[in-house]
Amino acid sequence: MEKAGAVLGWDQQTYMPPDAAGSRSAQMVTLATLAYDRFVNDEVGQLLERLSHDVEALPYDSFARSLIRVTRRKYQRERKLSRDLVGKLAEATTLGHHGWLQAREQNRFEVFCPYLERIVDLVVQKAEALGYPECRYDALLDEFEPEMRTSRVEALFSQLKEALVPLVQAIRPQVAQVDDSFLHRHFDEKKQWDFGLAVLQAMGFDFRRGRMDSTVHPFTTAFSPTDVRITTHVVPDNLASCLFSVVHEGGHALYEQGIPLEFERTPLGEAPSFGVHESQSRLWENLVGRSRPFWRHFLPVAQSFFPAELRGVDLEAMYRAVNRVEPSLIRTDADEVTYNLHIFVRFDLERQLVDGKLAVKDLPEAWNALMQDYLGVVPRNPREGVLQDVHWSDGSIGYFPSYTLGNLLAVQFFDQARKECPGLEDEMAAGRFGTLKKWLNERIHALGGKYTPAELVSRVTGTELQAEPYIRYIRSKYGEIYGL
Ligand code: ZN
Repeated sequence: MEKAGAVLGWDQQTYMPPDAAGSRSAQMVTLATLAYDRFVNDEVGQLLERLSHDVEALPYDSFARSLIRVTRRKYQRERKLSRDLVGKLAEATTLGHHGWLQAREQNRFEVFCPYLERIVDLVVQKAEALGYPECRYDALLDEFEPEMRTSRVEALFSQLKEALVPLVQAIRPQVAQVDDSFLHRHFDEKKQWDFGLAVLQAMGFDFRRGRMDSTVHPFTTAFSPTDVRITTHVVPDNLASCLFSVVHEGGHALYEQGIPLEFERTPLGEAPSFGVHESQSRLWENLVGRSRPFWRHFLPVAQSFFPAELRGVDLEAMYRAVNRVEPSLIRTDADEVTYNLHIFVRFDLERQLVDGKLAVKDLPEAWNALMQDYLGVVPRNPREGVLQDVHWSDGSIGYFPSYTLGNLLAVQFFDQARKECPGLEDEMAAGRFGTLKKWLNERIHALGGKYTPAELVSRVTGTELQAEPYIRYIRSKYGEIYGL
């Protein structure tokens, strides 16, 4: 039923006509409450208790024992939420999405404000119903990052801030050193789409088990490992926008297509956390797509699609252009270095919202102040500020930290892949990504949701989630590009 809801959600964000929002909301509420009724009842609880004794003797990572462990965790969490609250949240967030779209169209935060007030109120009720070890935000974070604590995120983020804020300040006077103007010529939309498909093909995306469609805000959703939908948007005067959103969503898609079919329709058929999922999209987008080996192969391919537009562009020029750093307003367009600063803004605001320290109506002002603090740029209007992200409109408060955790994990995983697969980058430079895809399939995707994020990271890398490898990577790559 969750997957059926996902089909409706995908349709809502791709092809649904705008006036269908009300009826779609009612359909989503029906599905959400039906799913709740089927799962959260005493019978399922008793069954899970009984089965957890039966599987005790099996190995920890066996299918049966993992299935019972993960399902029980999910059951215990959802049981704390009332049917009434689940229904209200489904309704408020479907309407909220519509309200957000309207507010964006009119570029007025006031239009979204009442919807968001309702959502924050319900999300706070949800956190209280779930309970938490240290602070209210823990309960929300746990939905996206099982067993992660706010205090741990804070510690990692402050380590990152210490390294990234001065780095961005050092780069700021040198921004003009890197020229990316040739990425902003006019690029035919159909050719951009086809170039994106060619890259997706090289990554190993299986078109018999997935497809690509167009949307405002690119995302990936999967109804099964055999049906994975990615979406993208094409901007005529920005070659990087469509390309990197395709590579990013392609990374998510390879994860979903790599989940074993035997896990389908069970709670094991999903990634352990949003951060782990994001690690795959970031790994492909940044560690692969913004690397020299990638462009050694793909620059001539890009030039065959756009011979006039990219004439005379050499490898170094392209490498530097796609890695240009500049503090900017829109998170999804941000470069690797400033990206996390956008996340810090949202993390700070979300905690204040759920702790009742910030009223929803005061969000735009608080948003702008934090943008000034972290990035030194201030939005001129809500569309390029507080209204830019879809997440709050669909109730995903507690989600943003996953992006930065994904960035950290991407580097840890890629370092490990390079260690275990000598010659990996030479293969990439020849346009062969099979070894990397296979490594990711075997070491990460094939495990589905068997392990907690912490267990998975330790299995794959032998260490825990850390900020240091990411900081080392960023300093070395951008130190070289900007001669710091
Ligand atoms: Zn993503």
